Amino acid sequence: MEKVIIIGAGVSGWTAAIYAARANLEPIIFTGLEEGGQLMLTTEVENFPGFPEGIMGPALMQNLKKQAEKFGTRVFQKSVTEFKKLKNGYEVTVGKEKYTSKIIIVSTGASARWLGLPGEKEFQGRGLHTCATCDGFFYKDKEIMVVGGGDSACEEANFLTKFAKKVTIVHRRDKLRASKIMRERVEKNPKVDFLWNSEIVELLGEPPLKKVKIKDTQTGEIKEYSPDGIFLAIGHIPNTKIFEGVLDLDEHGFVKTDRRLKTNLSGVYAAGDVQDTVYKQAITAAGTGCAAALEAEKYWEEIK
Ligand code: NAP
Repeated sequence: MEKVIIIGAGVSGWTAAIYAARANLEPIIFTGLEEGGQLMLTTEVENFPGFPEGIMGPALMQNLKKQAEKFGTRVFQKSVTEFKKLKNGYEVTVGKEKYTSKIIIVSTGASARWLGLPGEKEFQGRGLHTCATCDGFFYKDKEIMVVGGGDSACEEANFLTKFAKKVTIVHRRDKLRASKIMRERVEKNPKVDFLWNSEIVELLGEPPLKKVKIKDTQTGEIKEYSPDGIFLAIGHIPNTKIFEGVLDLDEHGFVKTDRRLKTNLSGVYAAGDVQDTVYKQAITAAGTGCAAALEAEKYWEEIK
């Protein structure tokens, strides 16, 4: 039986691994197939302390991984598909294999939210996207819509103006919820335009996407538009499917933790975006990853 298994390799998972490995807990980390979490989908991270010039998201993740490996973390690029409570610990299923551990740190993060429109997934990557850094390049001199009103929408819109001729932010209200600095950036960007009180109600095309129907949330009027591409930036959903019925989740699916990152099960901690309904920052994810590993270390001392 392992001492610690960490599920998920975003900022919180790698940070937990660094701390757990340095505490001789010999952690295993299951990274999932898309290692690195949400920072792999971003460009420059300007607000992670210690990098006055900023750092590219993927480079930061690479550094964290290197640091975790340096202290002996065992890294498996595999996905955990099942999680079970045993009498004396926990079991995770990874493909055909089963691993058992006394302690689990859940750091599975969150994934992009979709609009929930019929046939939406068929347009994925064919006119409809959730990652500007991944797919923005395909829209050189094109006209793009970005859906959402938060920091992500602003960041994506700004980034996309590097390629696109015009970027329209489509927001369901008449006010952005983004932070002041991000708001000002889009407001000052001459290539960014806004469509307020607007909701996409239908996607049209073969696919690829040809047209969209957008409803004015005030008047109910529906109009057709023909953007070359649409990028969704409407928040994220926690990756907690495998913990349903075992871990206590809130009504949105986030893992419930106390101030010490403890879940309802002893020896199971959660860190990062999977449990953060408030801050959702890379640095707070790192902080909770650290705290979860410190709690794990204390717990191990009690039970060993
Ligand atoms: P968010 O702050 O939750 O914003 C999501 C946006 O999408 C909101 O404007 C929301 O509208 C809209 N929305 C949600 N569901 C929708 C739907 N079904 N249809 C249409 N619109 C919908 O998410 P986020 O922008 O991804 O940011 C998440 C966290 O990460 C935040 O704490 C943010 O500060 C942080 N972040 C920081 C940075 C940075 O500092 N560089 C960059 C990215 C993200 P309403 O406003 O009407 O609710």
